[in-house]
Amino acid sequence: MKCYLCKKPAVIKQQKGREICARCFSMLVEKRIRKYVRAAKAFRGKDNILAVGDLAFYFAKKITDKMPVKIFKTNKEDKTSIRKNRINKIIPNWTIDDEINDFLEQLLNKKENHKKPSKVKEEKILSCITDEEASLFAEINSISFKPNKKNKDISEFVEELVKKHPHSKFSLISNIRELESVK
Ligand SMILES: [Zn+2]
Repeated sequence: MKCYLCKKPAVIKQQKGREICARCFSMLVEKRIRKYVRAAKAFRGKDNILAVGDLAFYFAKKITDKMPVKIFKTNKEDKTSIRKNRINKIIPNWTIDDEINDFLEQLLNKKENHKKPSKVKEEKILSCITDEEASLFAEINSISFKPNKKNKDISEFVEELVKKHPHSKFSLISNIRELESVK
């Protein structure tokens, strides 16, 4: 098994059936997140950012490397630290899987969106990678990552779909984004 990019021994089989090594995999994941951050204009010079979880913190730090931002880390959003550190942006621990699960759950009317709108803007920079990709990236780079709990029925439904159509999650997320942009 050889990496389709660098021809070194590969350890990961991607959804499209291609094989890739750990280094190229990490590079691609980071590239995708950087692209998302650029397109969303997620960070600005004087942001005070609160990253939820180690993985969000890792990418926030790496991507804002040359920017004069302040980054704080937490395992759970709490109002005191948001106020105390004058946080204006939060990076939630929120992946493609969370986005899809949440969307379908609301669509099926099983859950109402009780979340109060917050003054602090959420930048979901991890919402362009799956839980699986996040876990793998975290493992390779010795970062801790814990996927959020999700609605089990919906997760099972989505995983069944992925078995038949490997690209389902990516199609779903791009359709969800399109729908949200016309809201
Ligand atoms: Zn490679």
